[in-house]
Amino acid sequence: MTQNDITPIKDNLAKINLQILIACNKTERSISQVTLLAVSKTKTSAMIEQAYLAGQREFGESYIQEAVEKIADLQKFSDIVWHFIGPIQSNKTRLIAENFAWVHSIDRIKVAKRLNDHRSSQDTPLNVCLQVNISGEESKSGIAAEDLKELVEFINSCEHLTLRGLMAIPEKNALTDSFEKMQQLFVKLKTEQSNIDTLSMGMSGDLTAAIAKGSTMVRVGSAIFGAREDK
Ligand SMILES: *Cc1c(COP(=O)(O)O)cnc(C)c1O
Repeated sequence: MTQNDITPIKDNLAKINLQILIACNKTERSISQVTLLAVSKTKTSAMIEQAYLAGQREFGESYIQEAVEKIADLQKFSDIVWHFIGPIQSNKTRLIAENFAWVHSIDRIKVAKRLNDHRSSQDTPLNVCLQVNISGEESKSGIAAEDLKELVEFINSCEHLTLRGLMAIPEKNALTDSFEKMQQLFVKLKTEQSNIDTLSMGMSGDLTAAIAKGSTMVRVGSAIFGAREDK
């Protein structure tokens, strides 16, 4: 599908919201505990606008350059909440801190420090989740679970960052196991800190399994906007 095709974005959103509802019912969770983040990376501003007009407000982007263009395009929709979910190069931290309300993919102190420094000019703190490399794959980004404590402490010392929770992109072959490990880390962190309310996991193909393991935010791209040719 190309980006110029007319996509049934509104219908897709309705389907995904229903899927979330069913997943919540199955595990006796309230629908109010799970937020849908629409992942619009590589998709056009016009497509995001369609989703907005269908009621969607939270959007996730992974590539900073295209993201800032779309954020500028869509400024008139002032209640859109933008989440940065991609890998973070430290020379891009200023643009991220200036344009986003949330960042899900912090996995090292250097990046956290720079985001905090660049956020200082904004009135609201940046909401952050720490990305955990839960499947232990060397190629993937994310911090090892055993190194989490140090990063949590650092974030807590940052005046312009608010720690909200954890994020993961588990390997496809170890999904349930990884979701369960994330749930344990999340529950532990939550008992230690009152501001923790976000477990960001689950995508188009695995959101039901993620919700069963306590996900509070599912990041859904292709099931809403159509297939992508990922960069
Ligand atoms: C692209 C992306 C998604 C969405 O993936 P789909 O399979 O298209 O739903 C979710 N999370 C992250 C971090 C992504 O980069």
